[in-house]
Amino acid sequence: MDTPTTADIVIIGGGVMGASTAYHLAQRGVKNIVLLEKEEFYGTGATGRCAGGVRYQFSTEINIELSLKSLPMIERFREEIGQDVNYRQCGYLLVATNEKDAANFKHNVELQNSLGVQTQLLSGDEVRRRLPLMRFDDAIAGTFHQKDGLVDPNSVVMGYVSAAQKMGVKAVNSVEVTGIRVSGGKVEAVETSRGAVMTRTVVNAAGPWAGLVGQMAGVDLPIVPLRRQMFTTNPLREVPEDYPFVIDFAQSLYFHREGEGLLIGMSNQNETPGFDQGVDEEFELVNLEAAIERMPILERASRASHWAGLYEVTPDAHPIYGKTPVDGFLVCTGFSGHGFMHGPVSGKLMSELILDGTFSTVDVSMLDLARFEQGRLIKEYNVV
Ligand SMILES: Cc1cc2nc3c(=O)[nH]c(=O)nc-3n(C[C@H](O)[C@H](O)[C@H](O)COP(=O)(O)OP(=O)(O)OC[C@H]3O[C@@H](n4cnc5c(N)ncnc54)[C@H](O)[C@@H]3O)c2cc1C
Repeated sequence: MDTPTTADIVIIGGGVMGASTAYHLAQRGVKNIVLLEKEEFYGTGATGRCAGGVRYQFSTEINIELSLKSLPMIERFREEIGQDVNYRQCGYLLVATNEKDAANFKHNVELQNSLGVQTQLLSGDEVRRRLPLMRFDDAIAGTFHQKDGLVDPNSVVMGYVSAAQKMGVKAVNSVEVTGIRVSGGKVEAVETSRGAVMTRTVVNAAGPWAGLVGQMAGVDLPIVPLRRQMFTTNPLREVPEDYPFVIDFAQSLYFHREGEGLLIGMSNQNETPGFDQGVDEEFELVNLEAAIERMPILERASRASHWAGLYEVTPDAHPIYGKTPVDGFLVCTGFSGHGFMHGPVSGKLMSELILDGTFSTVDVSMLDLARFEQGRLIKEYNVV
């Protein structure tokens, strides 16, 4: 498709945030929406490289509220959008191996329960009983929530993009946004590798690249791209189909079923910010050794594939929604490693802000850009 020359709203980025925003705006009747993606396919940024985990288990009220709205949207996805997204409610089982994490787990479960999320607090023995394939002699506590699980990211993005296109959204791929024209403090146009699009409203949904897009408009966004990587194994017949998403919290080491094998990832705490999406083979060995320690059957497993992607990290591990000092330049980014699951509700929230001037599904007004300058940070503890 040719790049249109005018639009009521331009959305930059065809990942889950851009796709969901485009869909929800079109659903509210907006006609002239343009969605721009620099790659040949939608959803090949952070969204397509993510682990596909969805959970209610967070440590802040606002993240739990976002999950309480977003995950039911994923449950209803097929009904609403007509696309199966393969939601498997295998549960997340988080394991604590030190007293500090155990105390935080207890506090988190109380908070989640108070908001209606039925997470269970487990003893170390209960963790070991539930995970006979794993070696968790040092586990002192755990948490489990059955409705947490796995969803296919590509189906969510393509479901939203196709549904948006059917409602008239002009989605254009292989077009890179190269500049944002601002005049008198207001957005005037978006410049791209294929010409300019005149517009008054731009949504920056560029994920790990959102900071670069912010600079184009002269807006500083505190978004740091941070590489995270994972690998999958060939089939492991010992691992049952309903195996939970297990997180060894202190090591940021996680395991979940992928096809007939496992997907295993670990966050490198020494990773330095940057846009490199190549796999760090040295760190992969660290990950593999830690994984075999926890799950000895992996000694016999072989690697099926591996890849890396970028987290879009903010100083308080919460997203940034809404307005910026440039009139008409809006942001929906900074999800810090857990944005896929909040994509559905976030697109809806952006449509509310643009069309009604306020967020109504969840009040995320405290997650504004100004909070960093004003020192209103809200720290999320459950970051993997
Ligand atoms: C390894 C890994 C594991 C993860 N695991 C999970 C998980 O289990 N659960 C979970 O909920 N979240 C997870 N996340 C986080 C999640 O993937 C992200 O928070 C979410 O996908 C962000 O979506 P987005 O649409 O903002 O970004 P993206 O999906 O990156 O989309 C942004 C898009 O903007 C495009 N773009 C950028 N600049 C331009 C430009 N100048 N012009 C045009 N287009 C541009 C990019 O090409 C990209 O497609 C994980 C992330 C990684 C990297």
